[in-house]
Amino acid sequence: MTEFFITKDTPINDAVLNTIAHIPTEHLPKVVDPDFFRKLEDQDFMRIGTLLAQKSYEEGGCPIGGVIIDSDRQIIGKGHNTLGQENDSTTHGETAALRDAGRVAKLRGDGPVDFRKTTMLTTLTPCEVCCAQIKHRCNFAKVVIGDVTNAPSTEPILRAGDNGIKNVEILEDPKAVALYKEYAEKRPDMNLIDWRGHKELDRAIEAGEVPGKFAAKAARGISQRGDATRLPGHV
Ligand SMILES: [Zn+2]
Repeated sequence: MTEFFITKDTPINDAVLNTIAHIPTEHLPKVVDPDFFRKLEDQDFMRIGTLLAQKSYEEGGCPIGGVIIDSDRQIIGKGHNTLGQENDSTTHGETAALRDAGRVAKLRGDGPVDFRKTTMLTTLTPCEVCCAQIKHRCNFAKVVIGDVTNAPSTEPILRAGDNGIKNVEILEDPKAVALYKEYAEKRPDMNLIDWRGHKELDRAIEAGEVPGKFAAKAARGISQRGDATRLPGHV
């Protein structure tokens, strides 16, 4: 059997976690010893989510990442928001991870995936659309939220009702909070569109909360695809 590149004795640091973030999920079992994942705490998996958010940011997109682990602490899905990269309003960090988990299961000939014994870790509190997926479609055993500073916490929405998630933890990752804060300041238009759509951007401009120039910027982002949404300093 081929030796694992990342073994159970490999130290837990950003370089290793960033490597895991960038390796396609279906290849992780070939290069990472399952015992390495078993020694990771929730905050380490959240760090992988933040490194996926960083990847998205460097691509000119919203810095939000999601990671799903099974009951054996193995990663079964991960991904990041692609609103900036693809004008895709349906792929948030959480839904990117869900889509990845389904894709990887399909490669094995499995699925649809049963998420009831799995944990969703998301770097920003889930929007209402993602809350519905997490609760009603997937019934996650646990949800861990990495940032309720840059957006109002949706923990009450996740917990409410018959399908409410019993186990919700707020585990603020300072680097995730700092990264999203920087993004929201540079691109308030994309932040608001991603969260509540163009209606919310119009309201914020009307209220003087966001400079009017961002209305034109958002329109360019739609008509010109990728380049117009790139952030200064990022190629
Ligand atoms: Zn969402």
